[in-house]
Parts: sequence; structure tokens; C-alpha cells
Amino acid sequence: MLDLQALDTRLDQIVHRKATLPELAQLKALNTELSACHDDLVRAQTALGDVQREIVKADTDVQLVRERSIRNQKRMDAGQGTAKDLQALQHEVDSLARRQSALEDIELEVMERAEGLGADVSRLEAECAELTARADDLRSVSDKALAELDAEVEQITRSRADVVAGVGDDLVALYEKIRASSGGIGAAVLRQRRCEGCNLELNQVDMNRFTAAAEDEVLRCEECRRILVRTSESGL
Ligand SMILES: [Zn+2]
Repeated sequence: MLDLQALDTRLDQIVHRKATLPELAQLKALNTELSACHDDLVRAQTALGDVQREIVKADTDVQLVRERSIRNQKRMDAGQGTAKDLQALQHEVDSLARRQSALEDIELEVMERAEGLGADVSRLEAECAELTARADDLRSVSDKALAELDAEVEQITRSRADVVAGVGDDLVALYEKIRASSGGIGAAVLRQRRCEGCNLELNQVDMNRFTAAAEDEVLRCEECRRILVRTSESGL
């Protein structure tokens, strides 16, 4: 009976241990962190993509102005057209030069932004990779711990089947019923007149009755109704 109680207590402990494995809680927290990191990474990658398109556009703008400038310069160098035409050309060349300079400033600014975002992406990639590695480590630790506990459960379940066969169906059924309603303890030792299930001392009337009881009679604590197991230290 007490062997059965010890095995069941251990099974209860394992269930509790599996549910409260610290690695599982850490893994959950880590996964939340990882998910946030991935969100940040996607945001940074999207922003970088946008800026890279801005660079292409700025570059195209600069290129167009530059080509037009070169064309105008060639026409001026060729000296074709009237003085008024040349003056107009000169005016446009000056204006294009200012425009080109402004566009180059924009391009530079966009490239600086791209550089910053590129650094963000690299940093976040490294951060996410590190979190993933830590999560993998934790998962393998918790998987190992769970596998060990499961193996113990299997072993206890086999031992329990043997013990149950020795105890008998009726007594096991009674024990299970008490266990379900008494915090997992269905059977307790009677030690020095005291029930170790509820820790209360038995009165003399009960002690006398227990002393007179047949060896195969199932004794129950009058206070907590648990099955009492007699030993040489029971005080009977
Ligand atoms: Zn009791």
C-alpha cells in the first residue's frame, strides 16, 4: 500500500515538474523576444528596400541632369547659334549645375540613411541569430529533461502495475477514491499513534479498536479517512 502511495506521489511530482520546468518558461520568454526581433528585422529590411529604391531614383535624376548638361556644353563649345541662343544655353547650364548639385546632396543624404539602415539590418540579423541559437540550446535541454522524466514515468508505471496486482482491486479502488479527494494522499503510515496523513493523534478508543482489529482489516483514520498502514512503530 505504501509502495503504491510512494509511486503515485512520485508520478504527481513528475507531472508537476514537467509543467514547471524552468527551461520551458525561459523558452517561452525567449520566443517572445525572438518574435519581436524578427518583427524589427522585417521593418528594417522593408525600410532599407524603400531607401534603396530612393537611391536608384536619385541616381537616375542626377544622371539625366548630367547628360543634359553635357549636351548643352557641347553645343556651346561648338559655338552654334546666335549670341542670344548661347546666352540662353549658358543660363541653362548654370541652372542645371545648381540642380545637379542639389540632387547630389539628396542622393548623398539617402545613401547615408541606407548605410544606417543597413547597419540596423546587420545588427538585428545577428541579434535574431543569437536568440535562435539560445532557443535551440534551451529546447534541447528541456527535451532531454522531459525525455528523462517520461522514461521515469514509464518505469514507475510498470512497477505500479506489479504493486497494484499485489494490493488487490477493492483496496486499490478505495485508495484511488480517497487519493482523489485528499490531495493525492490515499494511504498513510500510523506512527506513534499519529496518522501521518493528517498528523493528528488517535484517541485511546480508536487505538484500542485498531489493536483488536484483524491483520487484514483495512483501517481508516477517523479524522481524514485515509487508509492507515500499521507498522511496528504504530504504537499499537
Ligand atoms: Zn488522518
